[in-house]
Amino acid sequence: ADHCFDYPAHPDDVDWQEMYPNITSDQCVEFADIGCGYGGFLVTLGEMFPDRFAIGLEIRVKVSDYVMDRIKALRTLHPGKYNNIACLRTNAMKYLPNYFRKAQLDKMFFLYPDPHFKRAKHKWRIINQALLSEYAYVLRKGGLVYTMTDVEDLHKWIVLHMEQHPLYERLPSDEEKADPITPKLYQSSEEGAKVVRNKGDHFLAIFRRI
Ligand code: SAM
Repeated sequence: ADHCFDYPAHPDDVDWQEMYPNITSDQCVEFADIGCGYGGFLVTLGEMFPDRFAIGLEIRVKVSDYVMDRIKALRTLHPGKYNNIACLRTNAMKYLPNYFRKAQLDKMFFLYPDPHFKRAKHKWRIINQALLSEYAYVLRKGGLVYTMTDVEDLHKWIVLHMEQHPLYERLPSDEEKADPITPKLYQSSEEGAKVVRNKGDHFLAIFRRI
């Protein structure tokens, strides 16, 4: 059923080789696209960083199946490429510490997360007070959290909560602009491309794990 998740008891129990055919025992996943949707940005990450391993986490079965098929097709079409990206169906708000060790991740991406406009639903926002500590646990010191949304109210909420948290600091805007990933955040993902087509606003914030 849609709400049933098989998840590892401990990160050591994850079979990464099943997802990344060439990964060796001294390598690990360092980039996580949280709520990756249809995987457009994940594919871009794989192309930009051929020597790093990236994972997309997606809760919807059909959507995660689509991304897995997409990656399989890309690997067939371009032998030797796209072996560094994979998609996992899971609830990222619940199971991150089951998959990732402390300080494993170097970058986390929250691109166009669901806004959950109503106040009563704010607790469902994927960036919230309680979860920020969990994200800090799996992120290494100096690691980065990238956030992008077209909803100004959500952007303000993200910045407020991240800045209030003792383990994150926002990057100054010149550093945000200089990051080679920044231009890709606008339209690599399907949601980002939609916002560009509709000539909507984009609100970017990047935070460093202290
Ligand atoms: N990041 C993608 C993009 O920019 O195109 C998708 C954005 S979409 C608005 C938000 C995605 O987050 C949806 O695909 C949704 O299923 C996924 N999602 C929501 N809550 C999640 C959770 N707890 N764990 C994993 N994925 C989640």
